Amino acid sequence: MRRKIIAGNWKMNNNLKSTVELISEIINKMDNHLENTDVVVCPPFTSLETAVELTKNSKVRVGAQNMFYEKNGAFTGEVSAEMIKNIGCEYVIIGHSERRTIFGESNEWINKKIKKALEEGLKPIFCIGETLEERQNGTMEQVLKTQVFEGLSGVTESQMANIIIAYEPVWAIGTGVTASPEQADEAHKYVRNLVENLYNSSVAQELIIQYGGSMKPENAKELLSKPNIDGGLIGGASLKADSFLSIINASN
Ligand code: PEP
Repeated sequence: MRRKIIAGNWKMNNNLKSTVELISEIINKMDNHLENTDVVVCPPFTSLETAVELTKNSKVRVGAQNMFYEKNGAFTGEVSAEMIKNIGCEYVIIGHSERRTIFGESNEWINKKIKKALEEGLKPIFCIGETLEERQNGTMEQVLKTQVFEGLSGVTESQMANIIIAYEPVWAIGTGVTASPEQADEAHKYVRNLVENLYNSSVAQELIIQYGGSMKPENAKELLSKPNIDGGLIGGASLKADSFLSIINASN
């Protein structure tokens, strides 16, 4: 059975003080008997080191929201995979739709970032997803296929054990509109098939595919009970301990 991963993408929210408060509340209230669920928080860069310190003796792990693919050098404003790994982070979100649309990240860049993250021992949470227009004009499958094939180009079979894919339909992110459990499960099944075509059935069956897009306490149980949905990447609902915890509890 695949494990579930519930990850909170805080985006550009929380300073150091509110990071300490939110993580402390999550740790204090979290059920420590969660057998099959891993919990990850992804604060802004400025809070990562503090988050790692705070979560050391807990079941919560820490991830960054982005990184650059070069090792070091003249890349003003960027942070490398090595820097993120060096402070104790285990995960990094790569290719979030906000990075793709607001910051113009291409599949080629995302692929370079994924390979660099893996090389440095980080686990990439690789985000893919179609826009509403692409879903409505029938190109959704082609879009997902291109994102998966180009994003994973050159990633080896053994490296796939350290990758998580997050299927996040762009029309559902931060909009309050959620994909129905059936729509989400169908997309996840399609992505799993793509991975089977690229690698083999055991890589596809072991791959953790999270759903992201307005997941909240009210819809988490139904989404997370679908056979191909192995967790969630949570934006808005990860910013309050109670709603994040209730999603975590719904995964078990
Ligand atoms: C996200 O940003 O990855 C996300 C899923 O956001 P929200 O849960 O707010 O839709």
